[in-house]
Amino acid sequence: MSLSYNMSIVTRFAPSPTGFLHIGGARTALFNYLLAKNKGGKFLLRIEDTDQKRSTPEAVDAILDSLSWLGLEHDGDIVYQFSRASHHKEMVEKLLSEGKAYHCYASPEELEAMREKARNEKRPPGYDGRWRDRDPSEAPEGINPVVRLKTPQSGVTTLKDDVQGEISVANDQLDDLILLRSDGTPTYMLSVVIDDYDMGVTHIMRGDDHLTNSFRQKQIYQAFGWEMPKLSHVPLIHGADGAKLSKRHGALGADAYRDMGILPEALCNYLLRLGWSHGDDEIIPRNQAIEWFSTKHIGKSPARFDMEKLLSLNAHYLREKNNDALMSLIQPLMEKKQNRELERSEVEKITKGMAPLKERAKDLHILAEGASVYLTQNPFVLEDKPKKQLSTEDAQTVLKFVYENIDIISCWDQETLEAALRELAERQGLKFGKVAGPLRAAISGRSVSPGVFDLMATLGQKETMDRLKSALNL
Ligand code: GLU
Repeated sequence: MSLSYNMSIVTRFAPSPTGFLHIGGARTALFNYLLAKNKGGKFLLRIEDTDQKRSTPEAVDAILDSLSWLGLEHDGDIVYQFSRASHHKEMVEKLLSEGKAYHCYASPEELEAMREKARNEKRPPGYDGRWRDRDPSEAPEGINPVVRLKTPQSGVTTLKDDVQGEISVANDQLDDLILLRSDGTPTYMLSVVIDDYDMGVTHIMRGDDHLTNSFRQKQIYQAFGWEMPKLSHVPLIHGADGAKLSKRHGALGADAYRDMGILPEALCNYLLRLGWSHGDDEIIPRNQAIEWFSTKHIGKSPARFDMEKLLSLNAHYLREKNNDALMSLIQPLMEKKQNRELERSEVEKITKGMAPLKERAKDLHILAEGASVYLTQNPFVLEDKPKKQLSTEDAQTVLKFVYENIDIISCWDQETLEAALRELAERQGLKFGKVAGPLRAAISGRSVSPGVFDLMATLGQKETMDRLKSALNL
């Protein structure tokens, strides 16, 4: 069976669907995607659902959803590992017939005794090979055997890893691993090798927690007479405190970052820089990442996750995004908060007034919160600070004066408004700030808002007058 593509480079992402897409997994997917695209190759997706007890369709959906949110579209059909189990099994028959694998009838008690012995002798536990060369006629009755690989007993198994360099393990440290369990199901180690081979994978890139598996997998490749794909084992992500990233460090699924109002562009850029570098470049959009990515510049030591850095990249990508796109991202957030649909006029105002808001926002929630300054509220509610600011007699006098004089302004744009307000201040013998301050408090109703003329222009004359009137009635 061949699922392979005739392409120069084939990478794959092979998550086990037992939960959400962890950001470590998201980074692995991103690196594999970039490597494939850099070489005009294919990026394949394999769902490793062999552990049927722990795999769930919800987890598959969550992983697919996150990958699609991150813009990491895979090529070709998704390969579901479990559906290929009978093929994995068949391939073991081949090894058995060639004498490269054998049935092992060791009982659980015997295996426990081997472990106990190894413990006493202070060496790593392992199977002692007692059924390796035994005649099958000696097989005990009524026991379903496992199938083990006849691994080399001397020499070394060497991996050449693009990140970790060349690493060897003495073969006498590696016992005869199980290929098929006693119920006939293939082990993970076997399935991974056959699937990678059948999918034509040329480059395996994954977390370095899989490094030890690679020695085992290499032995399986050798038994089949196949060449092992190129390897890159990427150091895992650590938390800001230097410890391996865990639940303790906060939200860890890619979806959790989406919920925090992080843009996928920002998360991808952040994850890319977390473990890979291109000189001092920090802002690396997707097309640039595709052009530059190679396994050469993957760091050898674990990178620390830094939320502040992620937020500052997010702020950058928010500023870069066009206003309509931002509007469609914050609209659902605003509607949820307001518990109503936004009016078309509000959407228009927010989109028009997005520029000053996106200058300051670090995430979509902050942006949505800022954008609510443009929502029509009846009555208009002011925050405590501006309310207090407007409760003085001086402030009320200024507001009244402005209110009575701006309804005649016919050209309601930022420049005209500013000129008119300056003129009004002068006429009253007031410093400009004494007019602009209360005006901004009254019209925005908050302590932080876009500039007052920006705001007035975006809100339009009627809404501005309405808000002034509310402030006058305080
Ligand atoms: N399914 C494994 C995991 O989720 C990855 C296996 C691999 O990349 O070879 O960690």
